[in-house]
Amino acid sequence: MARKKATVEQLRTLNKVREFKRRRNMHKAAGAGPGNKVAKGENVCAICDDGGNLTCCEGCCQRSFHLDNEHNCIKTLGLTIQEAKNIIEKEDFICKNCQYKQHQCFICGSLGSSDDTDTSSQQVFQCEHDDCARFYHPKCVAQMLYPDSQELFELHVAAGESFTCPMHECIVCKEVDNKKDKSMQFAVCRRCPTVYHRKCLPRDIIFKPKKGRRGPMRRAWKNMLPDRILIFCMKHEIVRELQTPARNHIVFPESNVLKTFQALYAQREAPDHSSSKQTHSSPPPAARDQNQCYCSSPLCSFAPSSVFMRPHPGSSGWLDD
Ligand SMILES: [Zn+2]
Ligand SMILES: [Zn+2]
Ligand SMILES: [Zn+2]
Ligand SMILES: [Zn+2]
Ligand SMILES: [Zn+2]
Ligand SMILES: [Zn+2]
Ligand SMILES: [Zn+2]
Repeated sequence: MARKKATVEQLRTLNKVREFKRRRNMHKAAGAGPGNKVAKGENVCAICDDGGNLTCCEGCCQRSFHLDNEHNCIKTLGLTIQEAKNIIEKEDFICKNCQYKQHQCFICGSLGSSDDTDTSSQQVFQCEHDDCARFYHPKCVAQMLYPDSQELFELHVAAGESFTCPMHECIVCKEVDNKKDKSMQFAVCRRCPTVYHRKCLPRDIIFKPKKGRRGPMRRAWKNMLPDRILIFCMKHEIVRELQTPARNHIVFPESNVLKTFQALYAQREAPDHSSSKQTHSSPPPAARDQNQCYCSSPLCSFAPSSVFMRPHPGSSGWLDD
């Protein structure tokens, strides 16, 4: 994790390109016709991480989705086969996150308002980097980028000032990428802002599964993303049948059960958050028993584990249960 110190001057001198980016995104969306739908946006589906016949969201998220009938992804999107067919044939596709301006923080997974026309209630903010459209809570990204001057950076992001998320430098050597030098290509996690150079990849992130039914699973793919390696980092358990981590990571607004499910999942996956001394005081035993979040953040709304009687239909269930 980055251990950098941001000074007030540094924060002040960061360019205010956020407004520019917002305008550029609006411009991009306006200029997009049905002919170049596949050319822009991500090369893999946001839900199943597979390539193929993808439809890009025309909103600001830059994500792509399978709207064809060969994948199960339209179910997660809440579309019928006919609705999906209509979108492919004649409509522009806007995902529910972009439609309702509610996007997930890429660190904790919780939904928050991304409405930058109402800054008093905006909760998640978009990275300013050209190739990046991820959203973050100010607190989450500040904790990860500047643990030593967290509060200052948090205020900076919350004020709508531009920032670059942790996905643009190697988590090991802190250097940027070089697309021309293979060893300096980025390997990018699909589930969290963890990025390695190819040469800095941990040994556990393997390109070929080890032999045997119980052997370590494949975690890296070379030909899914242009000039980049697609990985699932060690923080995420691979579900054997899916060959990916559990597919409960995408949360759309209007689905409160999924939202709390995701929040609980994020809490389990990120022990750093739940044990952080700065943000959490010691929990009362009752709260701990109920598996509730005991911090005072209004962004945290973890429900008791008894709510989750069974996994939701899109997932393969808990691995550790
Ligand atoms: Zn898909
Ligand atoms: Zn979208
Ligand atoms: Zn967050
Ligand atoms: Zn970014
Ligand atoms: Zn590196
Ligand atoms: Zn990861
Ligand atoms: Zn919390």
